[in-house]
Amino acid sequence: MTNPSLIRRNNHARGAGTAKAARPPGKRDRNRQSAEVKLAELRRRLLEINDLGAAGALLAWDHATYMPAGGAPARARQGATLRRLAHEKSVDPALGRLIDELQPRADSLAHGAASLIRVARRDFEKAVKVPPDYVARANTLGSASYDAWTRARPANDFPAMVPYLEEMLDLSREYAGFFAPYEHVADPLIDDADEGMTTASVRRLFGALARELVPIVRAISEQPPADDRCLRGKFAEAAQLDFSRAVVERMGYDFTRGRLDTTHHPFCTKFSAGDVRITTRVYAGDIGQALFSTLHEAGHALYEQGVGAALEGTPLGSGVSAGVHESQSRLWENQIGRSAGFWRHFYPRLQRAFPDQFAGVTLDAFYRAINKVEHSLIRTDADEVTYNLHIMLRFELELELLEARLAVKHLPEAWREAMQAHLGLVPPDDRDGCLQDVHWYAGGIGGAFHSYTLGNILSAQFHVAAVKAHPQIPQEIERGEFGMLRAWLTERVYQHGRTYTPNELIEQATGEPMSMRPYIAYLRAKYGELYRLPPAPRG
Ligand code: ZN
Repeated sequence: MTNPSLIRRNNHARGAGTAKAARPPGKRDRNRQSAEVKLAELRRRLLEINDLGAAGALLAWDHATYMPAGGAPARARQGATLRRLAHEKSVDPALGRLIDELQPRADSLAHGAASLIRVARRDFEKAVKVPPDYVARANTLGSASYDAWTRARPANDFPAMVPYLEEMLDLSREYAGFFAPYEHVADPLIDDADEGMTTASVRRLFGALARELVPIVRAISEQPPADDRCLRGKFAEAAQLDFSRAVVERMGYDFTRGRLDTTHHPFCTKFSAGDVRITTRVYAGDIGQALFSTLHEAGHALYEQGVGAALEGTPLGSGVSAGVHESQSRLWENQIGRSAGFWRHFYPRLQRAFPDQFAGVTLDAFYRAINKVEHSLIRTDADEVTYNLHIMLRFELELELLEARLAVKHLPEAWREAMQAHLGLVPPDDRDGCLQDVHWYAGGIGGAFHSYTLGNILSAQFHVAAVKAHPQIPQEIERGEFGMLRAWLTERVYQHGRTYTPNELIEQATGEPMSMRPYIAYLRAKYGELYRLPPAPRG
């Protein structure tokens, strides 16, 4: 299926070409030359902003991995200095003028220039709407609130966080106000993460998803629970790391352009196309943590390592949206990494690495253990079926807070009610309730959680499209080979960076707009077999 927005762009380019041909050649050449000089100047300015961002990311990576504790105060200041310099450059009126001057000639320039100008404009217009004093206040509150949260969560002290969270909520509303008019106060926050999505579109999607998911979860919970005791025990940490490293290298994560370290919270970070790093966490008593965190972050990294070299250093040179990024981590972690075919190849290797733990465990028992579904309190420990319910309840509470239908001080009760409604259990305290995620306490309220579920939905859509194009992919994976899948993802998703909008990219890659059908079909098929569920109703 063709993408209508691409057709529009091509028609436009043809139109511009016809108009130019009527001009005298001398003038056309001069115009083109001056546009190309301006484009080079635009690239130079954007490269400086990119470099300051990459330097800041390296400082943050070092902070999370190897920096001695004594480095913290100076590191915070150094990071803030780099962010300030990058912000100054990204709101420079000269940059805005350059974008304005290039806009009418975008289509006559080299391939990719139109996208570069579009994305540079989107970033510039967002940046200039946010006053510097707001950025400073948000940074100060973010660090103070994060710091308070690291103490309040273990102490189960939600009241200590109420003043911070109230201020966070005010700041989130103030931020949205910079982008007024909007239909819903959360729209600007959602658009930052996932261009083209709105509160209304996420609500519609989540409503439809809940209608499908809830009966699946209910049917699973009526079955005997899976036994995942084989994943707990005592696993040498170095051996876990070695195994995880070998798996992601096999998947195609390029260690000559990356590295793997351990941190408390796993992440993926990019300094350039030649340096995309991942971190993981290793728990001696739970092998699932290292395995699936490493697969997840490697999924993010494969995307970043696969972005086309020509986009390097420009705002086009990274993943297109939070949701599409998350789809790549989820695809490798869940669609591939929790599949039976994947473990047909890797399980004998895992048994050799951990003979005491797995020698007596069959592949089938291991496969059931890594796909255990259970109602749980903690989002980050949730299985792939119930995970989305955790996201939906956060999304609803965020909207209630932003719409002032819910006061911050009543959040704990609202959380308990929502947990009861969505997952049928109530946390014994706020530590495992509304204090569990850092997002609201460090980054503000709204626009963060929905992307995880978009990622889950899209992971299935991309995977189905890849297998449709290359039906041999599942057989390849059973042999521990990933070349065909990776090539399809590179061609359809990775290489494009931000060249297309998220919706264009999804439609171009899969032949249809974002759809939850492949995801629901995947869950029904996989968990229907695992938990012997009755067949889905027709219609
Ligand atoms: Zn992720």
